[in-house]
Amino acid sequence: MTPKTDLKNFTLPALEQFLKGHGKERFRALQVFKWIYQQDAHGFDEMTNISKALRAELAETAIISNLESEAIEEGSDGTRKYLFNLGDGHAVESVLIPIEGRNTLCISSQVGCAMACEFCLTGTFKLTRNLTTAEIVNQIMAVKRDLVRNPPALLADVADGGDDGEDSDDEGPESPAAIRNIVLMGMGEPLHNLDNVIPAIQIMIDGNGLQLSNRRVTVSTCGLVPEMSRLGREIPNVNLAVSLNATTDELRNRIMPVNRSYPLKELLKACKEFPLPGRRKVTFEYVMLGGINDTLEDAKRLLKLISDIPNKVNLIPFNEHEGCEFKAPTRAAIDAFHKYLIDRHVTVITRDSRGGDISAACGQLKGKLENKEIVETQSN
Ligand code: SF4
Repeated sequence: MTPKTDLKNFTLPALEQFLKGHGKERFRALQVFKWIYQQDAHGFDEMTNISKALRAELAETAIISNLESEAIEEGSDGTRKYLFNLGDGHAVESVLIPIEGRNTLCISSQVGCAMACEFCLTGTFKLTRNLTTAEIVNQIMAVKRDLVRNPPALLADVADGGDDGEDSDDEGPESPAAIRNIVLMGMGEPLHNLDNVIPAIQIMIDGNGLQLSNRRVTVSTCGLVPEMSRLGREIPNVNLAVSLNATTDELRNRIMPVNRSYPLKELLKACKEFPLPGRRKVTFEYVMLGGINDTLEDAKRLLKLISDIPNKVNLIPFNEHEGCEFKAPTRAAIDAFHKYLIDRHVTVITRDSRGGDISAACGQLKGKLENKEIVETQSN
């Protein structure tokens, strides 16, 4: 029997093609697409402006997949970690970071990761498989549902996670149930799964789809240079974050094996060429590893490397975790690094490790999952 087609793998033009193949008019695709993304329809029966005959026909050949979080863990700072069972023995996580009434959602793009960055817990799990387009967008839809049921408390907290106000449009507080920013920064290297990530972003930013502004979607990469060009060509208006973490090829080769294929010079050239509109900047993520990359010499080299690229810097003090030899930097080293850049007019955010008490902090996804330490299980 031919497996049914998951309509959530389709962008609107792809859905039009699919329905055309079944002899249906183009406007039917728009109707179905809106039911899926704007009404969160779980089945064809709900699509009341579509004829019964067509609904029955669709039910024969297609499905609308969904994810429901199997567990939700909430940190003392309001950060929520969602565990999604993919139904094939694998699971991924998404992390919601509420900041002053605005929600940033960090989603996964792969089960595990092939990039093997030495400081990253996710990287130790190796790559199991790519997520489908449906599995990527379904993380967002499931979290939206949870936010409607259980909106986060308004936390007066410092900025983190994708909106530093640099290009803020002063829109004021939003509904606590709205997701403002999406960052593809969870499990996996998004540019290693571009065939599924690009349609997922197209669905996110489609005015008939998830209706997110492309300036609120950020794709993070460890530095896959050819794929950066492809992303820039195919979706030129999303934000780019580059996980840099070292200022010499020698160190970067060691802690990020991707650098052996695409060394700093090539990576920075690709950043410079990435098509960012207007005043937007490339975000350079810099995980500070105590005694490894946290000196003023590193800060000086970093400034020199990025000075001819519109930039902002996120400093991320390393979170120590079991099985990893790296140490957290000292407060003094963090402050000196931060001050060096700020004094030279670089936009810098030093991220507090939000979600640290639930292992949702950057690079620490998935660990607890293996240990089954989820403390709060949702029952719906
Ligand atoms: S830091 Fe990102 S790219 Fe590197 S191993 Fe971890 S998940 Fe993969």
